[in-house]
Amino acid sequence: MKILVINCGSSSIKYSLLDMEREETLAQGLIEKIGEEYSIFRQKASGREIEKITRIENHEHGLRLILDSLKNPSIGVIRDQSEISAVGHRVVHGGSDFVGSTIIDDEVIETIRKYSPLAPLHNPPNLAGITVLRSLLPRIPHVAVFDTAFHQTMPEVAYLYPIPYEYYEKYGIRRYGFHGTSHRYVSQRAAEILGRSPKELRIITCHLGNGCSITAVDRGRSVDTSMGFTPLEGVPMGTRSGDIDPSIVQFIAEVENLTLKEVYEILNKRSGLLGVSGVSNDVREIKKAADSGDHRAEIALEILAYRVKKYIGAYAAVMGGVDVVVFTAGIGENAHYVRSKICEGLEFLGITLDEDRNRDPAKWNGVISAEGSRVKVLVVPTREDLIIAKETLEAIERAGAS
Ligand code: ADP
Repeated sequence: MKILVINCGSSSIKYSLLDMEREETLAQGLIEKIGEEYSIFRQKASGREIEKITRIENHEHGLRLILDSLKNPSIGVIRDQSEISAVGHRVVHGGSDFVGSTIIDDEVIETIRKYSPLAPLHNPPNLAGITVLRSLLPRIPHVAVFDTAFHQTMPEVAYLYPIPYEYYEKYGIRRYGFHGTSHRYVSQRAAEILGRSPKELRIITCHLGNGCSITAVDRGRSVDTSMGFTPLEGVPMGTRSGDIDPSIVQFIAEVENLTLKEVYEILNKRSGLLGVSGVSNDVREIKKAADSGDHRAEIALEILAYRVKKYIGAYAAVMGGVDVVVFTAGIGENAHYVRSKICEGLEFLGITLDEDRNRDPAKWNGVISAEGSRVKVLVVPTREDLIIAKETLEAIERAGAS
């Protein structure tokens, strides 16, 4: 069975075609700069990489190009698009309506549309991808896999903000949380690696990529997560500030004579690691600068580690302890120095890293804590395409069984 996984952004489309029997990615690609003068189309398939610079007018044009290239005799991996059995669509915001992945029908589309104001950069392009692909591939199931779904188990005490309750009732202002598919997958995979059931573990998952979020997974259920109403809350990220005093927004607007929209643009696009370091949003660049004595680069990494550490402490308190800490995504999987800094000083919680293991996690099946460490620390690569494909399959099986 082959499943196509689609992640439509405002001007980009990421896609993968997976063979579910072998859990193997057959083709993977990316279209960027849709609607601009020159768009970029890249695909990796059968060991070959292609790159085309061409004008791609809109999402429909891009998706048609993707289907064509998947079945192209020289660069493709299928003979006919009837080989695709289902499509898994990543949808960022499912609000409080979805606790899991779901087969897309007109009602689901309406609900995703309803949450568009809460994720204006994400849900509309997600919907564009769904609409176009449902018309291009009408005979197969399309499944929505939500970033927010895994966090729907959070209790009220974690998801309600201490602001007037009527705003929750009227506008749905509450913590939703994101990266849910990744937190779910890496927590389950960590338990599997340790030969334990997730039901007996208190796990803190640290998804540290361009976007960063930390989740408390208490015996298999998300009970709190650092991203909130939007993906701006929580730990600092590549270009996003994470938690700040809300009064800063008004202050900057006043002293810099900016609109609120402009200030939020700064908090989303010019803050975080980039804002503090002034070097880059890429940890590799920042590390290079820090190593050559750039103080702002050094302090940017320190702030990231310090704030992740604070969340680990907070979530250990929330769960009455912690058994496992998991690192994943670009920074979490690759930046051993960031993992070291985060775990430094957490011995009181039972967390002790083995530095040799930390530098080469793959050699140790991902387990980087020291032999006697009470809390196990793991690096688990997240595979968002595979997770979305698996959830797609599960949703189809559930629908078939009901
Ligand atoms: P996204 O959230 O876009 O999927 P990723 O999970 O790919 O992002 O994470 C991107 C981040 O991972 C970048 O900030 C980059 O600094 C970091 N990263 C990727 N590879 C490495 C590496 N080898 N060492 C350190 N950091 C890395």
